[in-house]
Amino acid sequence: FLSTKTHDVVVIGGGPGGYVAAIKAAQLGYNTACVEKRGRLGGTCLNVGCIPSKSLLNNSHLYQEIKESAAKRGIDIKGDVSVNVQNFQKAKDDSVKQLTSGIEMLFKKNKVTYYKGTASFKDQNTIKVVPIESAAEKEELELKTEKVIIATGSEVTPFPGIEIDEERIVSSTGALSLKEIPKRLAIIGGGIIGLEMGSVYSRLGSKVTILEFAPAIGASMDGEIAKTTQKFLKKQGFDFKLGQKVVSAKRNNDVVDIEYEDVKTGKKESLQSDVLLVAIGRRPYMQGLNAEAIGLEVDKRGRVVIDDQFNTKYPNIKCIGDVTFGPMLAHKAEEEGIAAAEFFKNGHGHVNYNNIPSVMYSHPEVAWVGKTEEQLKAENIEYKIGKFPFIANSRAKTNMDSEGFVKILIDAKTERILGAHIIGPNAGEMIAEAGLALEYGASAEDVARVCHAHPTLSEAFKEANLAAFSKPINF
Ligand code: FAD
Repeated sequence: FLSTKTHDVVVIGGGPGGYVAAIKAAQLGYNTACVEKRGRLGGTCLNVGCIPSKSLLNNSHLYQEIKESAAKRGIDIKGDVSVNVQNFQKAKDDSVKQLTSGIEMLFKKNKVTYYKGTASFKDQNTIKVVPIESAAEKEELELKTEKVIIATGSEVTPFPGIEIDEERIVSSTGALSLKEIPKRLAIIGGGIIGLEMGSVYSRLGSKVTILEFAPAIGASMDGEIAKTTQKFLKKQGFDFKLGQKVVSAKRNNDVVDIEYEDVKTGKKESLQSDVLLVAIGRRPYMQGLNAEAIGLEVDKRGRVVIDDQFNTKYPNIKCIGDVTFGPMLAHKAEEEGIAAAEFFKNGHGHVNYNNIPSVMYSHPEVAWVGKTEEQLKAENIEYKIGKFPFIANSRAKTNMDSEGFVKILIDAKTERILGAHIIGPNAGEMIAEAGLALEYGASAEDVARVCHAHPTLSEAFKEANLAAFSKPINF
């Protein structure tokens, strides 16, 4: 007989969606458990996603800055500046370790029971947990629960016919842990993950080639911003092969042979690289969950079907994060985690899907929220544009970091902000102000009349708003 534990809420998956949902449910008074099979909390994001990639991005940026701009800033470097790959990776691993164990502390503080194991459905109210090796509890368990939140996340989408060995042909996971800096790095996919990883290795000295099926990079970015991003990355040494379909890629000892063809003309070409990164996206992950046992519905893309309160076909089983609809982003999963717990408790919860920011942590950063120009045109909404370049922002100039601009899209009649797009230093931090403005229905004038500290980059945001309905002062 399996030993049985009883909970009010069981959360399956300890990623940003799951761990946040578990803490919120516990804070709302539920006896809550979270089951995670990775051995560490934090999911894709903390272990092999947002956090390790940002460590590599930040430190490779610092390296490049020291190498290329120290002298013009009046800093003399004696001797060579070089990267110690082992320590570079260690800095990343240390950040990840601190943050994942931090969540264990938060679980203890909030009295969330943490089971290290694989959860699978027996029925609508019964979850089996098979412990992983590092689990304290060595026996299989059965959890009886009133409510369940599924947050099993996503996995790398494989490229048909290309075998990933995480050494020469890698997914984002392998790319985060390369033991050497490749001389040549080819990347299939010009989306955020591909461009971020490309930025890391380009700064460390790799020759980066992006192979992208679409005619543009940046997936859902505003078209003008995507073009500007491409221009900046090209200047940094990226080679872009757009409108190209990869046909095959094979490892031959220490090189990868890649064949691709022009989407329009069918012209075939080939390329050799030391490492190939396959970054064509992610897909929902449900392996081992035994969702079939309760007949959970999934759509054509494998996403768990839910209603607007995150309910699956069972009102006691909700589903959030990458494994269901919407952008695959950590902060979106977190918002849903909180809302799902609140819906269970009191029938109310709130996620504004029109106001989920996206950030690409390249340099300069790219961040956006709300509508793009392309979306506004498709929806026949009349709009006005306000722009302000960082070259005219005093802080950016002083920082010697003034590439890019802020672009604000407002309703032509009401002047309400509809979208904000920033390409520039610290765009990822600045986009929070746009989110707040959007959430409260601010007009461009509302933002422009708020006193912004001087000298800050955020003055460029204020000036772009001023430009949208009137004229900027400093440009
Ligand atoms: P996940 O984080 O995938 O967590 C799901 C967890 O469930 C996993 O740990 C898994 O082990 C566990 N699990 C699955 N099945 C079971 C089971 N049956 N039993 C027990 N446990 C189970 N997003 C951003 O917002 N910003 C970024 O900068 C960013 N950068 C990224 C960079 C990379 C390289 C990658 C790959 C992703 C990045 N993302 C980023 C996306 C982000 O990581 C995901 O959107 C986020 O992790 C989704 O959270 P989640 O909780 O839905 O799922």
